[in-house]
Amino acid sequence: MRSHVPAYELRAARDLPQALSMLSEGLRPIAGGTDVMVLFEAGKLAHKKWVSIREISELRSIDIMPEHVTLGALTTYTDIRRSAILAAEFPLMRAAAALTGGIATQNRGTIGGNIVNASPAADTPPALLVYDAEVELVSSRTSRWVEYRHFHQGYKTMDMAGDELLTRIRLPRRFSDWKHFYRKVGTRRAQAISKVCFAGLRSGDQTRVALGSVAPVPIFLENSDLSAIAPIDDVRSTARYRMQVAKNLMEEFLNVTA
Ligand SMILES: Cc1cc2nc3c(=O)[nH]c(=O)nc-3n(C[C@H](O)[C@H](O)[C@H](O)COP(=O)(O)OP(=O)(O)OC[C@H]3O[C@@H](n4cnc5c(N)ncnc54)[C@H](O)[C@@H]3O)c2cc1C
Repeated sequence: MRSHVPAYELRAARDLPQALSMLSEGLRPIAGGTDVMVLFEAGKLAHKKWVSIREISELRSIDIMPEHVTLGALTTYTDIRRSAILAAEFPLMRAAAALTGGIATQNRGTIGGNIVNASPAADTPPALLVYDAEVELVSSRTSRWVEYRHFHQGYKTMDMAGDELLTRIRLPRRFSDWKHFYRKVGTRRAQAISKVCFAGLRSGDQTRVALGSVAPVPIFLENSDLSAIAPIDDVRSTARYRMQVAKNLMEEFLNVTA
């Protein structure tokens, strides 16, 4: 059932301070709307007051610094796919973006929205985890950087207050020499939600692996030990199938990157 449009309030922020001020009044941010509008269309969008952050241009950039590449939260999947620096040094980001939805979703959906929507099946979190990403959270009170590894605390719960906006994602430029591996296993190659999503980096004996859809939050593994994952049965797959796929992907990763 569709939502009742007049019951909702949507304002547009012209800049970051205005957006932060509206968040402190209890509005929530909408970026590309590709998750929010699905809930709205289904009549399941409980929160009624929203601020569009889409026109805040300073949040849509890919900045190259000596130590980091920094993505604004409004960077879209298409921006990621077109970035030469990400293709060269962070190819798993590009792979995840290319396998996310179709062209319309890639043009509209943002990396910040993917992180904060916090679906365990999302496709960029495993790549962000293996690259040791940090996220910047800003409110009208404070500004802080959080290691992405510690950002998701449980199913749809995060180290983020209601008045904070995720503004930037910082990727350290120290993994370009590693071997990179990304696989998304879904019902189809495109336009399918992951049953298991796997990102891996390897340099000699060192491995960095992260998986999506195998626990309530995306999981990072310092080594290749899968005992930390706890897949569940749901409408898309069974726990048993997911565990077997995770094992197969680990084996393929270790073989391909040997
Ligand atoms: C047809 C279709 C296919 C899809 N396929 C995939 C897929 O294959 N893989 C995948 O991972 N996802 C997929 N998605 C989900 C979606 O596109 C992504 O999660 C997208 O990145 C969300 O970004 P957005 O800007 O549209 O977020 P929005 O819908 O605007 O927001 C999502 C949530 O994040 C919050 N939020 C957004 N930006 C910020 C910010 N900067 N700071 C704080 N909170 C923020 C919002 O308040 C909201 O709670 C698909 C969606 C559709 C409709």
